[in-house]
Amino acid sequence: MPPKDRILIVEDENSISHFMSMALTSNDYDVIVARTGAEANGMITSQCPDLILLDLGLPDMDGLSIIKTVREWSQLPIVVVSARMYERDKVTALDMGADDYITKPFGPSELLARIRAAIRRARINGARPDVVLMGKYQVADLVIDYDKHQVSVSGVNVRLTQNEYKIVSLLGRYAGKVITYDYILKEIWGPGSKGGNQILRVNMANIRRKIEKKPAEPEYIFTEAGVGYRLREEE
Ligand code: CA
Repeated sequence: MPPKDRILIVEDENSISHFMSMALTSNDYDVIVARTGAEANGMITSQCPDLILLDLGLPDMDGLSIIKTVREWSQLPIVVVSARMYERDKVTALDMGADDYITKPFGPSELLARIRAAIRRARINGARPDVVLMGKYQVADLVIDYDKHQVSVSGVNVRLTQNEYKIVSLLGRYAGKVITYDYILKEIWGPGSKGGNQILRVNMANIRRKIEKKPAEPEYIFTEAGVGYRLREEE
């Protein structure tokens, strides 16, 4: 039997950590639980988890400081579990290096899907080498061709402008992961483009008109309200 993936749950609310433990244990994960930030920091170094499920509101410290500490030495995947409605926290967590977030309340299938995706991405090292190697990213009828700099839907070139192509190709390299507005702006328009969300929204509206059947109900590029965009990942 292959070794089980070990998940560290950092959560001070017993009912939630119990729910997550049950869901993970019954799906063949090895689970360890920390109830405080101090406990978590100790377990991260002594127990070598494969992924951290991190609550941001801990009794002894802000969960964000754990992300900061871990990212000083490791790319260990971190999925933030947040009850907070404030999008700012999610954005800050992602910008500090968290891999993804899940908002309470959530069901076991959503939790498991996020964990599987984060571990898989960590194994292939952030940006997807499959995309780099193949020179292509495909999901359903959408194909991003990195050699031809071209995006097609059902075999038809959708004729994106240069910046529209850059946005879609960036999302494709990180398919399945939320990419924040600031990160996209910096990558496409360079540093100092802060506050340029409007230009990104305009480009995204045009992209959606070109690639989505129903731009108001996108099936390829999803909006994570107040945070960023996520390109659909193949199942
Ligand atoms: Ca809490």
